[in-house]
Amino acid sequence: MSGNLFDLIRSRMPSADKTLIETASGERISYGDMLARSGQIAQALVRRGVRPGDRVAVQVEKTPENLMLLLATLRAGAVYLPLNTAYTIVELDYFISDAEPKLVVCDPARRDGVLPIAQAHSAAVDTLDAHGQGSLIDLARQSPAAFDDVARTDSDIAVILYTSGTTGRSKGAMLTHRNLSSNAQVLADYWRFTPQDVLLHGLPIYHTHGLFTAAVTSMVAGGTMLFLAKFDPDEVIRLLPRATTMMGVPTHYTRLLQHPGLTRELCAHMRLFTSGSAPLLAETHREFWARTGHAILERYGMTETGMNTSNPYDGERIPGTVGFPLPGVELRVADAETGRALAQEEIGVIEVRGPNVFAGYWRMPEKTKSEFRPDGFFITGDVGKIDARGYVHIVGRAKDLIISGGFNVYPKEVEGEIDALPGVVESAVVGCPHPDFGEGVTAVVVAEAGAGLTEAAVLAALEERLAKFKRPKRVLFVTDLPRNTMGKVQKNVLREQHKDLYAGAAQAAHTGLWPDKKKKKSRR
Ligand code: AMP
Repeated sequence: MSGNLFDLIRSRMPSADKTLIETASGERISYGDMLARSGQIAQALVRRGVRPGDRVAVQVEKTPENLMLLLATLRAGAVYLPLNTAYTIVELDYFISDAEPKLVVCDPARRDGVLPIAQAHSAAVDTLDAHGQGSLIDLARQSPAAFDDVARTDSDIAVILYTSGTTGRSKGAMLTHRNLSSNAQVLADYWRFTPQDVLLHGLPIYHTHGLFTAAVTSMVAGGTMLFLAKFDPDEVIRLLPRATTMMGVPTHYTRLLQHPGLTRELCAHMRLFTSGSAPLLAETHREFWARTGHAILERYGMTETGMNTSNPYDGERIPGTVGFPLPGVELRVADAETGRALAQEEIGVIEVRGPNVFAGYWRMPEKTKSEFRPDGFFITGDVGKIDARGYVHIVGRAKDLIISGGFNVYPKEVEGEIDALPGVVESAVVGCPHPDFGEGVTAVVVAEAGAGLTEAAVLAALEERLAKFKRPKRVLFVTDLPRNTMGKVQKNVLREQHKDLYAGAAQAAHTGLWPDKKKKKSRR
């Protein structure tokens, strides 16, 4: 067996007639069909001139054929490069210029926009639509199913996943065959996946969560997937009785909780719900437990590393934690400046090392170097701690850390206090430029309808609970927090929206409108 991830999938294949995928409309694809279809598409790729190591950029809707295209690319020894369907033509220009793919596969509606960009970089263009049809499939249909898989070594690149790039340029994380194979095997094992499992798959497949944590893990276990084009709560409720497992982002769970159809009976034969990509509120965890009897298993990973930690399958799944390092993954919390490992309960930057950690950023050797310690640990940029029982807690992203008046404020601590107040649904705390403090702690709060919550009431409630430097300078109310498709709160959007919030604050301080330091002084 070579190091090709596809060899692993093939070696774990159950019988050829076993269902690999069933779509919401009832279309079934067996493991045997998968072999034939991915073989035909691999033939089509070769006919388009794709050679081992070439990139195949893919911006198409979620369909089984798209997944077959991943497998075909692996079989051809090429590099699969999925792109978020929300990216505009201007953004595509960046990715195509940066990655220089041999082939771009896009939705037919995008073809005219993509063609000149692709041509400028000597890339061919094929189409694949939301029904799994297009020029790529036409070519595949005319091709034989037998394909001689290209052998790959463990360190060959299988996939490039671009990071979401909320700060600066989006970077292409290069993942090797070994990164993906090792993580899929560990997850299948840790979460006890078997060929009897039916995974409810409602995640996008241009992201590591839906593509690798979910789809590839299920395939490596020889399981079946109920493959939804999009997460639709009605569809999920309809299909849950036929599933055994579901992987979701936190917003999937909050949306299911809003559905009257979510009951204990509906989930009776489910064995596992997992959550990740963004923090799951402890409140959501508890509500889901009360409603269904299931403790959602929260885990933590990222594009560059796949999965790093997981709450235990058998042991206690603690809300607000992301569990233990997975087998084979070394995790430490370190001082951000020096890289010195910190003691339990101390907060620092999370660093990981293991077979899951990526090979580096595409054509960014300097950036890659700066994100690794000399001993090979990858600096994740997440801030957290390990508690006395060994559970990992994530406190926030290093870039979200607020420094106000020279003090470090961890947004999650403030959010936790605000979320615990009656009438609060959720909150996000960000630092906005402040002329006196550098950054002003700012809370953006979603309140329950009719709760009548006011800024003054929130501030008064926090007075007893948080040191003054941690308390928000302002509390703003919104109906929804801005989120991306993976359910992550877009703090960069909030910072941008409120960047002028304190613009007049310094002046106001001198006119006595802002009571802080001046009043205190005059009282003395
Ligand atoms: P991505 O590369 O898009 O998968 O984003 C990875 C980032 O999502 C991580 O670095 C974390 O900041 C965040 N993340 C993933 N899982 C969790 C989790 N369970 N709790 C908190 N943050 C998470």
